[in-house]
Amino acid sequence: MKKIFILLFIINQLIFALEISSKKVENANTLFLKIVKENIKDPKLTFDSHNINFFKLPNKKDSYYALVPISYYKDLKKYKIIISYIENKKKVFKGIPIEVIDGKYKSEVINVDSSKVILSEKNKKRVSQEYKEAMKIYNTTTETLYISDKFIYPLETKITSDFGKKRVYNGSLKSYHSGTDYRAKVGTKIKAINNGKVVIAKNRFYAGNSIVLDHGNGIYSGYYHLSKMNYKEGDLVKKGDIIGLSGSTGRVTGPHLHFSFRIHGIQVDPLQAIDLLNNNL
Ligand SMILES: [Zn+2]
Repeated sequence: MKKIFILLFIINQLIFALEISSKKVENANTLFLKIVKENIKDPKLTFDSHNINFFKLPNKKDSYYALVPISYYKDLKKYKIIISYIENKKKVFKGIPIEVIDGKYKSEVINVDSSKVILSEKNKKRVSQEYKEAMKIYNTTTETLYISDKFIYPLETKITSDFGKKRVYNGSLKSYHSGTDYRAKVGTKIKAINNGKVVIAKNRFYAGNSIVLDHGNGIYSGYYHLSKMNYKEGDLVKKGDIIGLSGSTGRVTGPHLHFSFRIHGIQVDPLQAIDLLNNNL
């Protein structure tokens, strides 16, 4: 009896694993964490006073994953991610040190001060309402993970503007490019990058005709400036479905696709996020 007990104990210790995709992460990139452990409950983590839940890793026993999105504006320094879970009715804590490093995004100098482009009171109100409405959605974490298999790209054309390009005015950082731009003449078919639920399908002031997909577990992708939207809010789409056609609606200088990604409400580099998810999920 005693022997069996000891053996089980050893096995139990052996199957514990805690993995992190990297201990150094660039601003606006995302980290992937994984726990493999039997008989634990309520795994979660805290990063810089934000609480993030772990979710069950699809098709893997006793495995949980969490995504930690790093904001573009996060201070470049060392942090500690605190992981906790319940085991044998006791709360267990583990700390992982990480460092946020400079993504070294290129910058572009803006000659017109965007704050001097006056919006009418009506448009100001519209923009602020659209922002609030979208943030409420992005900060909602859907328990269901809709995705199946690897992510694809919305287009295979040339990237005309990278994510993260700094917009500098009078020597100070004013904003940054919040997505990846793809070359797309009006009417180009845009694909859903994975299965998801349409949570935004409407015309917005800056983004024009916009489709946002909820992929579950706090993962959202956005497709902006469309000339046509093929789905409405609440629709379920499958990976590769043509969600709409590209265009130049909203505040743009020419037709293109602006493709964006949010994780737990934080805007992140879409291509790094896709790569990370495809390598780990
Ligand atoms: Zn863009």
